[in-house]
Amino acid sequence: MSCLKGRVYRMREWIKANAGKTYKNFINGEWIESVSGKTSVLYESAIPTNELGHFPDSVIEDVNLAVEAADKAFQQWKNTPGTTRASVLYRFADLLEANVEELAYILSAEQGKVLAESRGEVKRAATEARFSAGEAMRMDGAIMPSENPEIQTQVKRYPIGVIAAIAPWNFPVVTPVRKVAPAIAYGCTVVLKPASVTPWSTIRLMELLAEAGLPNGVVNLVIGSGSKVGDPLVSHPLVKGISFTGSTALGLRINEIAASKLAKTQLELGGKNAAVVLDYDNLEYAADQIVSAAFAVSGQRCTAISRVIVLQDQANSLVEILKTKMENILVGPAWEENVTMGPVINRQQFDSVMDYIELGKKEGAELVYGGERLQVGEKEEGYYIQPTLFTKVNKTMRIAKEEIFGPVLVVMEASDVAEAIELANATDYGLAVSVFTNQLDVSHDISDKIDTGMVHINHGTASQAHVPFGGVKQSGFGAYSIGHSNQEFFTSMKAVYVKP
Ligand code: NAD
Repeated sequence: MSCLKGRVYRMREWIKANAGKTYKNFINGEWIESVSGKTSVLYESAIPTNELGHFPDSVIEDVNLAVEAADKAFQQWKNTPGTTRASVLYRFADLLEANVEELAYILSAEQGKVLAESRGEVKRAATEARFSAGEAMRMDGAIMPSENPEIQTQVKRYPIGVIAAIAPWNFPVVTPVRKVAPAIAYGCTVVLKPASVTPWSTIRLMELLAEAGLPNGVVNLVIGSGSKVGDPLVSHPLVKGISFTGSTALGLRINEIAASKLAKTQLELGGKNAAVVLDYDNLEYAADQIVSAAFAVSGQRCTAISRVIVLQDQANSLVEILKTKMENILVGPAWEENVTMGPVINRQQFDSVMDYIELGKKEGAELVYGGERLQVGEKEEGYYIQPTLFTKVNKTMRIAKEEIFGPVLVVMEASDVAEAIELANATDYGLAVSVFTNQLDVSHDISDKIDTGMVHINHGTASQAHVPFGGVKQSGFGAYSIGHSNQEFFTSMKAVYVKP
């Protein structure tokens, strides 16, 4: 490993100075030990023997305390003026930016993504918090035409109450902020449960929210395993909405529990996103976009491109360009200069991705690049996987249909546009698609015919901080997150008839 210097040195020094502490839950504005009295050790992603800290092993009693605190706070917060709610969020956004470096160190240490990605994630969280701040002053209402001249008709919106915000491990800063910020803006209160493998970032988020002046109980944090904390939180009678980002299997289960008590759900689930390359004269550019969308965060993004569907006559050229660009990906730990792809988060994820690579070979796909574990450093450390490319993949193979959630890209060939559309739709998921074409009419047609929540014409699957974000089929359910569409989830309507 090369010598430590510059930003490299700072991240390692910072982690060394700050690792090893014991953390608590954040309930009603106070740091409280779990009722269980137990904690779990969190290890560094890139150095799995390095302890980062001890985090609560929460149980149902902790959940109950947090939900009750959130419900009590809701009685005040729902009547707090939008301007006040907005000012907390503006301060929070400023604090996120002021602490970007430290938050990026925590994020890279626990999740493994490279520092540039971590910094980008924190900045993006600040932008989304700022957008939500504006939303606090933008809640819709309407005065409607009345069929009776003596009666005025109005439609107003009200916050729904306590929200269970459940986040995955791949974006431990932006996903919690994406749920907590609109909840605060629209007057809801929150119990946040981060993924048990990425709790540290959320501790820092709570500290910054408190510093921003958020009243006690408006946002509460309960850390623990999904099995012990998840079910009690989702099924608690005072929880009126569940904003969940994670796997489709869990989303389906959560939706069932929510339906049994008529709670609202906002489910952001898995993806098997395609890049559809049609008649396109700039394959270099398309490959750049595909490689960046496929291998960012080591492919552990719900919107990662994991399938390429290309017209037969340009397939060989595209594969050659993709391989060349993948050779240029520098895999290593976040703190190393020039590294562009980190490890996958942990052993479990590594095993799952490597199993899919083996499966791909058994299914008869051709492995044309990567496929191996990479040794980084002098001893076995971190779960680094080479960017991996399969060709000769058909739509019945599991590697073509299932979410691998790692640095694996598969290429399928189509004889014409109709077959390309059919292949793009040949998965249960429907999150995002990228289409590369020179013909604008084709791009419009294909936008209509591919069943995804998001379509990107001539660029990779990147989202923006104010544009609705979500999926169809098994990729999502309920109001889209990000942007004004969040209002649909966090508020309910009331029709008001007034006889003056
Ligand atoms: P996961 O479904 O395993 O876990 C998500 C969260 O649910 C974690 O906090 C986990 O502790 C919690 N949980 C576990 N059991 C629970 C239960 N019984 N009740 C309630 N909560 C429970 O997902 P993950 O492995 O953390 O994240 C990866 C998945 O997330 C991928 O499928 C990815 O596509 C998806 N994801 C989707 C989006 C999106 O916006 N569509 C964004 C990021 C990630």
